[in-house]
Amino acid sequence: MSQALTVLQQVFGYDAFRGQQADIVDHVIDGGDALVLMPTGGGKSLCYQIPALCRDGVAIVVSPLIALMADQVAALRELGVKAAYLNSTLEPAEQQRIEADLVAGEIDLVYVAPERLLQPRMLDGLSRSPVSLFAIDEAHCVSQWGHDFRPEYRGLACLAERFPSVPRIALTATADLRTREEIIEQLGLQAAAHYVHSFDRPNIQYRVAERGSAKQQLIDFIQREHASDAGIVYCLSRKKVEDTAEWLSATGREALAYHAGLSPTLRAHNQARFLREEGVIVVATVAFGMGIDKPDVRFVAHLDLPSSMEAYYQETGRAGRDGQPATAWMLYGLNDAVQRRRMIEQGAASAERKRVEHGKLNAILAYCELASCRRIHLLAYFGEANQAACGNCDTCLNPPDTYDATRYARIALSAIYRTGQRFGTGYIVDHLRGAHSDRAESLGHDQLSTAGLGQDMAAKTWRSILRQLVALGYIEVEHAYGGLRLAEACRGLLRGEEQLELRVDRSAKRASAARLKKDLPPIEIEDEPLWEALRQVRTDLAREADVPPYVIFHDATLRHMLAERPTDLDALSRVPGVGDKKRDAYGRAFIAAIAEHAS
Ligand code: ADP
Ligand code: ZN
Repeated sequence: MSQALTVLQQVFGYDAFRGQQADIVDHVIDGGDALVLMPTGGGKSLCYQIPALCRDGVAIVVSPLIALMADQVAALRELGVKAAYLNSTLEPAEQQRIEADLVAGEIDLVYVAPERLLQPRMLDGLSRSPVSLFAIDEAHCVSQWGHDFRPEYRGLACLAERFPSVPRIALTATADLRTREEIIEQLGLQAAAHYVHSFDRPNIQYRVAERGSAKQQLIDFIQREHASDAGIVYCLSRKKVEDTAEWLSATGREALAYHAGLSPTLRAHNQARFLREEGVIVVATVAFGMGIDKPDVRFVAHLDLPSSMEAYYQETGRAGRDGQPATAWMLYGLNDAVQRRRMIEQGAASAERKRVEHGKLNAILAYCELASCRRIHLLAYFGEANQAACGNCDTCLNPPDTYDATRYARIALSAIYRTGQRFGTGYIVDHLRGAHSDRAESLGHDQLSTAGLGQDMAAKTWRSILRQLVALGYIEVEHAYGGLRLAEACRGLLRGEEQLELRVDRSAKRASAARLKKDLPPIEIEDEPLWEALRQVRTDLAREADVPPYVIFHDATLRHMLAERPTDLDALSRVPGVGDKKRDAYGRAFIAAIAEHAS
């Protein structure tokens, strides 16, 4: 058996490498450079942690996420790995001790912030230390074009020159081609092997529902499908974050607000509770989430439209990092398009940048209106074409009905045209439905041939048609007041050269639990007492060790214990996720709980 596999099993308690992990690990152990692109939850950490343990000397892990270093290091220490971190939060004496260990090679892994690493004193220290490898995490931060540029990452270019014989492995979960090229250039990775993992997250179920009564829809979704699970709810505004957290709390859930307007202390406190307690919901603006490394987030809900497909992928990607089933759930309505356009237009960006942002908005709108597999569309957006329908998104599980909407679309377009291309959805719908208003009369709109032409259809249906026409690019929304006007693309329709299929809206019908892709079967009633007992043991141990519960064992590991009911330490070490150190440290407590519930 290879040394890497032995470490994987004995230290981390996993049976086998996933995907390209084995190749990456072998390559770096042999001293090669690597560029690793893997989606969140793909298992990037092991790609450098295992080489760090197999190669002589100290691995230096560069990460911008200072707030998470303590938890990352705590998790490694739980596994018996000699790990430490160096950043501005440490006392000087502690720093000196770690630096001494580093030079002496008495440590396996050191996490360090880039600005810290680049201090001349630190670099000098490193040249006297046995450095086994450099891992550059969140490597996209080096790119000016990326969404998270950090100038201090630029300085990392010097590593290639100063430490030519030390392997470098750069890792990221976001990298379009341009960003990728910049990473290679900036970090001197021209000779590195590339490992590009598929961006598919098969365990995430993607769903988009039309927004009706948002509050009730969200509550129903959470109560039916995630009654005691941890999750994140994203909202656009601070006010909505606070309101939503408040009424979720009123349903009996632990729901905490997170946005940039809260004090740093309160934010840190809420984040810590989310990480450390079970079943906490964070309601947040996009200020929350970067680098949040919690494997058992079971759902991510969007009450407002994300700004782009990239943002949507990144935000939903925080669900289900442990590979177990998770839900990405979003509500969407025409107002989103109007509101977002206005935000872009009112922003301070250059005209060119605004065009880019409008384009990104169009892409996410089209995604919302899909009548075909969402995953195919999502992956194609990120350059993975020709996928098969996934069977685990709302449109696959519950294909929407479509209808020939050509005639209605033409009526709607004519109405917009005849009323002068400056009125919003509400006005156009009233006009089509023949609703009486003084304003329409004073403008003579009640005399137009389109007035009342759509009487036979519900206002709701007309709104749905207008919304889809916007998303599909037939109608443009004027930025300041939300007025609708015809886009170039609608010519074919108006000339009668084009047919149009639209989807029949349905409100947030849930995909029934039975149809969810299931790696995790529901817990049987008779197993519930033991399940609760195992979770309690984990909570107690976590509290004692002052770490989040998943650092003790992941949910998947507890589920295996529940299914296999190991009665001794040997049997327990065969449970995935149980390494030697954890078996010795915690095994007895879990076995005792299992024995107590033996029937
Ligand atoms: P990333 O950094 O790519 O987002 P992580 O390194 O945090 O992902 O890994 C995601 C989850 O998958 C973690 O909970 C990790 O323990 C688990 N994991 C990684 N590799 C394996 C493996 N080979 N077998 C089982 N679980 C794994
Ligand atoms: Zn699908």
